Amino acid sequence: MRGTLSNSQAMTGNRRRAGQNLLRDRTAAFQESLLRWFARHRRDLPWRRTPTPYRVWVSEIMLQQTRVRTVLPYYELFLKHFPDVRSLARASESEVLELWAGLGYYARARNLHQAAVRIVSEHRGRLPGTLEELLSLPGIGRYTAGAILSIAFNKSMPIVDGNIRRLICRLHGITGRRGEEFFWRQAAAWIPAGQASEFNQAVMELGALVCLPSSPLCPKCPVRDFCEARRLGTADRIPPSRPRATFQSVLFAVLVVEWDGHLLLSRKHVADYIPGEWGLPAATITAEKAARPAASLLARRALGMSVLLEEAGTVSHAITYRRIRARVFRAKPARKIPLPAPRAGCSWVGRSEAGRLLTSSLYRKALRAGRP
Ligand code: SF4
Repeated sequence: MRGTLSNSQAMTGNRRRAGQNLLRDRTAAFQESLLRWFARHRRDLPWRRTPTPYRVWVSEIMLQQTRVRTVLPYYELFLKHFPDVRSLARASESEVLELWAGLGYYARARNLHQAAVRIVSEHRGRLPGTLEELLSLPGIGRYTAGAILSIAFNKSMPIVDGNIRRLICRLHGITGRRGEEFFWRQAAAWIPAGQASEFNQAVMELGALVCLPSSPLCPKCPVRDFCEARRLGTADRIPPSRPRATFQSVLFAVLVVEWDGHLLLSRKHVADYIPGEWGLPAATITAEKAARPAASLLARRALGMSVLLEEAGTVSHAITYRRIRARVFRAKPARKIPLPAPRAGCSWVGRSEAGRLLTSSLYRKALRAGRP
């Protein structure tokens, strides 16, 4: 009769339900083990003490491609100067970049500032609590939006980054490739109801402290009983190692000109990855031997005359994947001439003011080398 289950269909249904219950119990046990571990082992991080949307947002932006240890002093100083969205929006971009100097990836700071201005004008100074609104702000992608919504608003939103992708692969014993959506589905499925904030932080913490990229600490892992890679002994082979990242070497000639208590600064950017509105006059060069002619040319263009150049040394600096070597030249216009009017986007700036305007550590290092 239609609508009536046969005996074998009923048995299949029972088996499926039993399987689902088992899976539910296993997921609940996994969540419980992880949350219990997190309650005991969580690091005391400043953005965790009062996880407001603003504090979580700033911390997540700073933590992109950057270690916690590096971020800590920057975060504290940033929050001291800009304790909320409104104070950040009121600041100038140079003030924001000044506090970011040394942290790298400066587009993050510019986006943070622009987003703060928009949050004030479009959301009355409060970070919005929906995915669509957050994603429409500069510098906020799916991961950051998920972190803000889950950690600060306790909304059941997944987060996926390199650590979490690795953790999912190991837990499932996945050695091959999987599409991005697979990971987002997994990361959404394991969030326990009403505990998104704690659970997502626990997952992040496990990836950062225990399920490490090259040598996972499996014996100490709170979810080792649920891990397929551990069972198979393949944890340290997941994910398969990739070729090392290649670094780009960049060579600059940098000019330091001091005259009558003033320093020659340039508003022309030698490269857009160097932060700040102001820099020292500089040019990219392709060979070491081109350094002095390039510095001479910079001086001629800026001052409209030839000057005596003295080599002041070489400074090294790294910005993200770039390794920069800067050959520094000191130039002194002849004492008998008046302060020449600078050109080519350059200006004379008083010494102490110049120290404040130079936000890039590269220029600060060059300045130290270039001073007699
Ligand atoms: Fe990672 Fe090992 Fe824990 Fe598995 S048992 S999740 S591989 S640390």
